[in-house]
Amino acid sequence: MEQGEAVSPPSAAEEKVGKEEEDDLGYRLFPDRNKNPQSFLVRSLFTFHNKCQLMLRMTLETNPYAQLLLEAMKQSGCTVFNDRHFSCENCDGCVGGGFDSATSQIVLCQNNIHHQSHMNRVVTHELIHAFDHCRAHVDWFKNVRHLACSEIRAANLSGDCTLMNEIARFKFGLKGHHQACVRDRAIRSILAVRKVSKEMAEKAVDEVFDACFNDLEPFGRIPHSKTDAKRAFRDFQNRDRYNANL
Ligand SMILES: [Zn+2]
Repeated sequence: MEQGEAVSPPSAAEEKVGKEEEDDLGYRLFPDRNKNPQSFLVRSLFTFHNKCQLMLRMTLETNPYAQLLLEAMKQSGCTVFNDRHFSCENCDGCVGGGFDSATSQIVLCQNNIHHQSHMNRVVTHELIHAFDHCRAHVDWFKNVRHLACSEIRAANLSGDCTLMNEIARFKFGLKGHHQACVRDRAIRSILAVRKVSKEMAEKAVDEVFDACFNDLEPFGRIPHSKTDAKRAFRDFQNRDRYNANL
C-alpha cells in the first residue's frame, strides 16, 4: 500500500504542497490550533481526518525512517505516543505539517496530505525537529541559527531532497545537488515561519551548514532510500545492543 518514494515521483500538485510543508511555530498557518473542535464538520472534512489518521498509523508502523526516529526518541527519554503527540488538522496555505514546541506536538495538515509517500516524508521531517527538541535545548524563537540547523537536518535526513533528486536528475549533475537542495529547502522553511529577510535566513543557514549537514544523528548516514533507512534502523538497534553488552 505504501508508495515507494523512489519509484513513484509525486504529481506536480503534490510536489507543490511538499515544497512548503515546513513549519515550526508559525501559528498563522495552523488555524485549528487554539480553537475548539468544530461542531459543524462537513462530511468531507471528517473523511480527511480519518484518512489522515490511517495514513499516520501506516507510517508509524511500517516506515523505517519513522521507526528509527521513534526508537531514538524513546532512548533519549522522549517516548512518542500516537494519540498524544500527533494531531491531524486543517492548515492554511500549502504546508504539510509542523512541530509545535510548546506542546511537543506534530501537526499533520489533513487537507494537504493526500498520499502515503507524502505522509511518510512529513512525519519523518517533523520527527527530526522533535528529536532535536528532545536532545538539545533548541531556542526555536530567539536563535534563528538553531532553527536553521534543525531545518538543514530535516531536509537532509528526511528524504525531502531525494525526491527532488529524482526529478532534477536530468537537469543538474547529481553531485552537489543534494547539498544545494538541502540549503534551499532550509532557507524556505525558515522564511515560512519567521519574519526575517531572505538575506538573514541565508546567512543563518550558511553559518551552521557544515556542522549541521554533517550531523547525521540518529541515522548515522544520509538515508537516500527506504533500503538505506532500513539498514540505518538495523544498525541503530545493533549499536544499542552492542553498547548494552559493554
Ligand atoms: Zn521543518
